[in-house]
Amino acid sequence: MPTSRFRRGSGSPGGRFAVVDPATGEAFDEAPDQRPEELDGIVDRARAAWPGWRADPAARATALLAAADRVEAAGEDLAPLLTREQGKPLAESLAEVARTAARLRYFADLGAPPQPISDGRPVSSELRWRSLGPVAAIVPWNFPLQLASAKFAPALAAGNTMVLKPSPFTPLATRLLASVVATALPDDVLTVVTGREPLGSRLASHPGIRHVTFTGSVPTGRAVAAGAAASLARVTLELGGNDAAILLDDVDVERVADRLFWAAFRNCGQVCMAVKRVYAPARIHAEVVEALAQRAKTVVVGPGLDPGSRLGPVNNAAQLDRVERCTARALADGARAVVGGRRMDRPGYFFAPTILADVPPDSPVVTEEQFGPVLPVLPYARLDEAVAAANDTGFGLGGSVWGTDQDRAEAVADRLECGTAWINHHGELSLAQPFAGVKESGVGVAGGPWGLYGNLRPFVVHRPEEP
Ligand code: NAD
Repeated sequence: MPTSRFRRGSGSPGGRFAVVDPATGEAFDEAPDQRPEELDGIVDRARAAWPGWRADPAARATALLAAADRVEAAGEDLAPLLTREQGKPLAESLAEVARTAARLRYFADLGAPPQPISDGRPVSSELRWRSLGPVAAIVPWNFPLQLASAKFAPALAAGNTMVLKPSPFTPLATRLLASVVATALPDDVLTVVTGREPLGSRLASHPGIRHVTFTGSVPTGRAVAAGAAASLARVTLELGGNDAAILLDDVDVERVADRLFWAAFRNCGQVCMAVKRVYAPARIHAEVVEALAQRAKTVVVGPGLDPGSRLGPVNNAAQLDRVERCTARALADGARAVVGGRRMDRPGYFFAPTILADVPPDSPVVTEEQFGPVLPVLPYARLDEAVAAANDTGFGLGGSVWGTDQDRAEAVADRLECGTAWINHHGELSLAQPFAGVKESGVGVAGGPWGLYGNLRPFVVHRPEEP
């Protein structure tokens, strides 16, 4: 169905906006286009729901565990809808639903018990963790469910209530997810709002919101932080990345090639911590390029709902344009597309999996976040050069080092300026680990107990031991 058949841009009550299937480029459904003015009532209701929700940690844990079960049970409905609006293969959507349920379970009863505090003086002090109130989450379109749950699972477990805004490119699975989760929660503990800008900026700057947790691009992150400054709400930002993979001279190329390929191309390269640049010793550079090109040539690209597809489309037209521009610029800069290098000649937002060689190191495909199925492979002469190049970026999300001698690889990984460094793989995160980018990749810490404490405030009772 063509986009133009939908009412667009009204922003009025009852207004809707079209949701496009990236595998066809055509609208297939619509979502409510909520007006920013609606936020006042929504935040008021989230505030009213807070005292009841924060009062009973055991009841909260029970409710969140029940929510996890219901999310898992709804996987057959959630996953196809996610694939339809996001583009990723169905198996990846099912994995995203499973991860969402797992995250709810992880945080449900993690708990933040009171802690005695002593500096040796005769006082008895206790630290008690308190919830913040209504908090806001704003998430992007690459992992809509997983990133939503990365926000609401710790926030709700901490006793906060939440208003969550998904990307307008992927509102539907998040709405369905929230309706499933809501069946296990009291009213107004979790509310999803959908709509186009300025809905997000007004949510970030809403005076009733006590913490804004945002995942998305660096420029929007800056705008969110500036907006939240108005009410001095706490801000957690998980932003972009330009992760490097450094291959060492003892790497077994054939052995790691599949893992390296998927670390770059999973979700069509639309992963904040995908491998976005590969540095290979000059001696084996051609072998690495060939191994990756072979996989890029043969991977099955198609609609995510087709059972054979391993790679779907890019999520939206603007992102496809960006990937195309970035690749064209690299080619104009002298790069060689060993495979791919262009849009695919078919409906939808498909870009051919692309391996680039001979890329000038200052080309934007190396220095910026391409966020698509395009991977530059750069040669290096000395290891120090590769480490310096890996760190020579404004980003600092992740990085990886690949080699047969794992201890040596780990010593190199230790030199990477980023939040997570992997050895012989890239991108896997434990639910129990802190996730924090350095430099422009983020502010604050998510994940593990740190993610829970990021949703709490310290409250100290300080009293002398003798009255
Ligand atoms: P984006 O910054 O354009 O949008 C993210 C969200 O912010 C969307 O919901 C969007 O509607 C909303 N938004 C847009 N303008 C806003 C404003 N002025 N105020 C408040 N909210 C606003 O990002 P995107 O294109 O949706 O996602 C891709 C980016 O997300 C990439 O840079 C990627 O690296 C990053 N990302 C980071 C992580 C991480 O954990 N570090 C994870 C996934 C994606």
